[in-house]
Order: sequence, then structure tokens, then C-alpha cells
Amino acid sequence: MLRVENVKVSFDETCVLNECNFEVGEGEIVVLLGPSGCGKSTLLRTVAGLENPENGKIWWGAQEMTPVPPHKRGFGLMFQNHALFPHRNVGENIDFGLQILRMTTAERQERVDELLKMVDLDGFKNRKIGSLSGGEAQRVALARSLAPKPRLLMLDEPMASLDRTLRDRLLADISDLLRELKQAAIYVTHDHDEAFFIADRIALMHNGKIERIGSPSEVWSNPGSEESARSMGHENLIKLDNSGRCDIGQFGSSPGMILLREDGLSVVPEETGIKGEVTSTVFRSGVTLVKVRVGKIELSTSVQGSIKVSEIVNLKISDSAVVALS
Ligand code: ADP
Ligand code: MG
Repeated sequence: MLRVENVKVSFDETCVLNECNFEVGEGEIVVLLGPSGCGKSTLLRTVAGLENPENGKIWWGAQEMTPVPPHKRGFGLMFQNHALFPHRNVGENIDFGLQILRMTTAERQERVDELLKMVDLDGFKNRKIGSLSGGEAQRVALARSLAPKPRLLMLDEPMASLDRTLRDRLLADISDLLRELKQAAIYVTHDHDEAFFIADRIALMHNGKIERIGSPSEVWSNPGSEESARSMGHENLIKLDNSGRCDIGQFGSSPGMILLREDGLSVVPEETGIKGEVTSTVFRSGVTLVKVRVGKIELSTSVQGSIKVSEIVNLKISDSAVVALS
């Protein structure tokens, strides 16, 4: 369906996007995940037609979209700051998305009511935008962007301005709704938990490039580069010396970085494995997150049960959780 091919964008001769390639299939949700400033919004704006690529093409099926103006692409865009019209009420804001379509007033009213139901805002039609909570405003923005039934919906950090509880609920609702509508979507975020929750596939971005794309478990297990590993929330990134050594052992025979995935690192009762000292503990939802120092390396893992700072513990590392990074 959507294909982004070798897209390059520069501002004032600074290259912001370089050789970006990815696809979004029918009904698929692809998450663009990467740190602030890596080019996520620029990539969305380029797909939407708000930026012109100096190289590369955007395709929808067999049709090239690069020369097609934004309003004729059939794509919807929802911004982080929702960009609603403050002087129009909720219904009028949603209706705005329908004005470019050839619909009668009655048909439009019907569609607005349908959308209000969809986003759980029944009865909000005449409310002023200023009287809405952040989460409600985001739901209106979602309804407005879904109103003309876009063939692709793009959401740019829609949770950024919400507090955690609201975020979790809205994210679950958006995810359910997009799947129910079989809506093809690109969802932009810098938050890996959000990405894991909603993505069919995750595209990891760094410095204007898509470094890796795959299912959430694929990119989590093997993120590719150091930056991508950080974007995924991995903490145990270890530098090897020229002979492939570090304070927890020998890994191959050359310098580089490795990732020690948290799923393959555990604190064990036996007097085997690697000894380390607990440097910090944080209790969270039933487990204790601990940092253990081995020589100059600090490793993050979690344990069930009690553990104290300064305690000496034994760590077990499973070979399958050691991943080479570029
Ligand atoms: P993200 O959405 O991942 O935070 P952006 O796409 O907004 O990243 O920005 C990527 C880079 O491009 C940043 O360095 C930003 O300052 C720069 N940038 C974005 N828009 C413009 C613009 N209109 N003019 C010049 N530089 C821009
Ligand atoms: Mg952005």
C-alpha cells in the first residue's frame, strides 16, 4: 500500500532524512520510534506531502504520490498538540474534516455523531474546545482525522502531552479502534512502551535513517545498533576492548559493543557465575529492579523477593542473550 522509497530531505543543506525506506501494508500499524530530533515528524510530513523530498519517492500501490498535493493524497495527520480550532465546538471541529468531501449536511451530521460514538465522546458535540481535558481534546483530534476515512492515518506523538493514566487508556482505545477499522497507520513516538503496545511492526530511527524494521519481538531481540538498543529501552550495553574482553568475560576476539539482553541475565542463588555488588534497588509492580556492579560494568536486571544494596550476588548470563551491536 504505502511505500516510501529512498527518501531524502534537507533543510538549509543539512540532511535531516537520508535513504528512508519502509512500507505500510493493508490495515497495518507501523511505529516510527526514535529519540527527539531524529527526523520522525519530518518523515511524516514528507509522506503527507507537506515537505518535498529532494530524492526518492512516495507510492500508494502503483500510484506515485510525490507530485500529488497533500489534500488529494487521502492521508490523515494527527498532531501532538491536536491543533483544534479553539473558536469552534467539538462537532464543528470534527465536521471540518468532512467539508472537502461531497456530502450533504445531513450526511455530515450523521458521520459526526458516528465519530463521537467511536471515540467515546457521546454528548460532547456542543462543548467548547477550551472546556475539554487533554485526553478529550486528543479524542476530538482523532475523530477529526478519521472523519474523511483516510486510507492512511498518521499520528505524531499523540500521547506526548498527557499524564500516564490517561495515556494508557487513550492508547488502548486508539489501538482497539484502529484495529477495528482495519486502519493503516503510522504512529510516531519516542516511547518504547507505547511502541510495543500498538505496533505491528516497529521502524527504529536514528539520525534521519531507519536503522531497523521488524516485529516488536524481532527488533527487541536484535536491535542492530547501540542507538537502536537504547531506543528499545535496553540498558546493558557493554564496550569490549581490542581483544573482545570486558569485566564480565570474553565475547569473541574483536573490539565493539554488545548488548546483554535483560531476559538472559538473572541473579541466581548458586555460588556459580559472576559475582557482583548490588548498587541500587527500585521496587516496581511486584519485582525489584536492581543494578549490579561487576568491575567497571553496571548491569540492570530484576529479581523477585528481597535484595539489598551492597549485597554480593551471583549473576548468570545465558549465551543466547548476548547480541552484537554495530
Ligand atoms: P523528531 O520529530 O524526530 O523530533 P524532526 O523531524 O522534528 O524530529 O526534526 C529533525 C531535525 O530537523 C531536527 O534537527 C530539526 O531541528 C530539523 N528541522 C525540522 N524541521 C525543520 C525546518 N522546517 N527547518 C529547519 N530544520 C528543521
Ligand atoms: Mg516530532
